[in-house]
Amino acid sequence: MIRFPESINAGAALLAEIEKRSGQRLSACYQCGRCTSTCVAAFAFDYPPHRLMRLLQVGMVREVLASRAAQLCLDCMTCSMRCPMKLDVAGVIETAKAVADEAGLKDSERDLRLFRRGFLNNVRRHGRLHEAGLFFWFNLRTNNLFNDAGLLPPMLRKKNFHFVPPRIRHRRQVRRLFQQINGRQG
Ligand code: SF4
Ligand code: SF4
Repeated sequence: MIRFPESINAGAALLAEIEKRSGQRLSACYQCGRCTSTCVAAFAFDYPPHRLMRLLQVGMVREVLASRAAQLCLDCMTCSMRCPMKLDVAGVIETAKAVADEAGLKDSERDLRLFRRGFLNNVRRHGRLHEAGLFFWFNLRTNNLFNDAGLLPPMLRKKNFHFVPPRIRHRRQVRRLFQQINGRQG
């Protein structure tokens, strides 16, 4: 288990670990803010993505590891695709989350991460979200079959919940996009 840093030197060691694992050179970020302007979840973050990068640059690793942003990030990769320095911002955040887990910091967010993974796999497979697929998959995985069942009637009324997977014309392009992103991470 990673011990949480108390001294600046220990923080620097953790920072080096994040850089090593993510394969990113954090000093390359020049704070243009494009990652934040394209992030769909930034409204719910305590620190927007460019601020997370800055905190890491100045060695405030503890703040990043404990942040709500690191746990709520959807791993959608939009920020990584848009960074002019080709920094894998999402990969950095993902690494920070892993380190936070190892430090025993945020284990309570496991379901959130499971949901995020299921969401992305679902979109990759269908080209867009298949709501029923994600709903049943997640509830089975978390042993809570009727979790959020109250949301179904209004979603069905608004035709926002489909039992049959959607037929999407651009499904191949979406898969290619996922492959490109995985290639960039590899
Ligand atoms: S888009 Fe890239 S360079 Fe710009 S702030 Fe975000 S991480 Fe830094
Ligand atoms: S990967 Fe996370 S930080 Fe990046 S755009 Fe998506 S939600 Fe925002």
